[in-house]
Amino acid sequence: QKPFDPTKKTIAVLGSGWASTSFLKSIDTSEYNVVVISPRNYFLFTPLLPSCTVGTVDVRSIVEPVRFISRHKEREVKVYEAECKSIDPVNKTLTFVDTSEIKSDEAEKTIPYDYLVLGCGSQNQTFGIKGVEEHACFLKEVWDAQKIRTRLMDCVETAAFVGQSDAKNEQEIDRLLHMVVVGGGPTGVEYAAELYDFLKDDLTEWYPDIAGKIKITLVEALPNVLPAFSKQLIDYTESTFKEQNIEILTKTMVKEVKDKEIIVQQPDGSMKSIPYGLLVWATGNTSRPLIRDLMAKMPESQTMKRGLLVDDHLRLLGAEDVYALGDATATKYAPTAQVAAQQGKYLARVFNQQANRWKLEREYDALTAGSEKDRLARKINKLRDVRPFHYSHQGSLAYIGSEKAIADLPFLHGNISAGGVATYVFWRSAYLSNLFSIRNRALVAMDWIKKNVFGRDISRE
Ligand code: FAD
Ligand code: NAD
Repeated sequence: QKPFDPTKKTIAVLGSGWASTSFLKSIDTSEYNVVVISPRNYFLFTPLLPSCTVGTVDVRSIVEPVRFISRHKEREVKVYEAECKSIDPVNKTLTFVDTSEIKSDEAEKTIPYDYLVLGCGSQNQTFGIKGVEEHACFLKEVWDAQKIRTRLMDCVETAAFVGQSDAKNEQEIDRLLHMVVVGGGPTGVEYAAELYDFLKDDLTEWYPDIAGKIKITLVEALPNVLPAFSKQLIDYTESTFKEQNIEILTKTMVKEVKDKEIIVQQPDGSMKSIPYGLLVWATGNTSRPLIRDLMAKMPESQTMKRGLLVDDHLRLLGAEDVYALGDATATKYAPTAQVAAQQGKYLARVFNQQANRWKLEREYDALTAGSEKDRLARKINKLRDVRPFHYSHQGSLAYIGSEKAIADLPFLHGNISAGGVATYVFWRSAYLSNLFSIRNRALVAMDWIKKNVFGRDISRE
């Protein structure tokens, strides 16, 4: 690999998620130094994260280290496992800290950048509802899935431990075995579906005395789940959940979370307490503190609380040489992996086009006047024309349990909706082929086979 070159421009990339990883994969480092800063040193394939909460798939099978990509680059890429704490868009510097348990004496660094790529995603939305942070489990990162798995098995084992002889204990067992999911978007639905499969395939066999008492409830503030899917698939999901005994409470808004119960406002406006053992919170995204802090530095241009505003070339409004992608932005697109990955690839192409232009400009300067110089001038001019980002929607997929999936797929100028077992086969093959590496594909395929042969592991994490 070529070494870091101080005469080249430096691109600082924040994050190692869908947007930044896609950028890193496609960027040509011959003309740039690249520095990646992310608090986790790996890429996570989020679409299969709900499967990790019950052990259908192992978390190790869906992650790949950032260095797996960076080591194949033409020029050395610096990778820091650290959290960016502040950005100074005027002086073009950023400060990051090592937030791991093991730190060196120099735990904080400030570096200059020529270009900054913001792909640091979003954080879980709580709407400031009291008690969510303290008592609920989120589902965004590897450690969230591990925490859910541990909590779930804790609830089941504790329920098995509690004697069932008196009515008070009966009530406590019912509470422990009540798994509540808040948010009927794709994250909440897919988690409830995976939990149902675990209950039906494994817990029923391992815990015959109590498995029948396990109850799954999905709480959604809107009139239906999966608002982004077509009506037909919403109905199909709701009827499948009904068959699976997953209770859906629509038009029901969680107002407060306590350690053993949630307080909800019901459709008629009245308040109700719902006891729970495990609470999974999946009510969408909001901006990270780093992003909010950056917005506050440019209040005239950054007016959306939801995320960063960019132009159609993904340039951050109000700052020079800063680009923002994925869930960190507020655009007309949904905050999905598909959008983030396409944006990352697009931006790398923009940088590669600029690098090609610079190479040709150097050749141009070295030539004396003549037809070759004119030809180069035309080529250089063409490379100055940078096309805006264009999103191509490949469709929406979600798993709904019992080996059924739903899909809304674009077809000609319309849309095809499909749901059922065949769609599940399609869902599986689509995710398998989209996984990051051959290693990931092999591991996930083996996890699926392992689950079919031996069942899921019920040991606590
Ligand atoms: P992320 O992938 O979240 O990456 C953000 C990165 O920034 C991370 O590496 C993080 O560690 C890093 N970071 C955080 N703070 C800092 C900081 N201060 N400094 C530096 N780096 C920082 N979308 C789909 O299209 N299809 C699906 O099937 C699908 N399934 C999903 C399932 C689940 C459970 C979840 C949670 C999401 C799912 N999504 C899906 C949505 C998709 O994961 C997101 O839209 C996508 O991850 C956004 O990519 P991103 O790169 O913007 O952010
Ligand atoms: P979301 O924003 O899609 O859904 C959150 C849901 O929570 C909403 O329906 C909202 O009405 C509900 N809600 C909010 N506050 C509530 C309250 N107090 N009480 C009850 N309900 C409440 O969030 P998500 O499911 O985490 O998805 C985030 C993004 O990731 C979306 O863009 C989604 O498309 C994407 N994603 C996609 C997939 C997939 O394609 N399979 C899977 C997961 C996530």
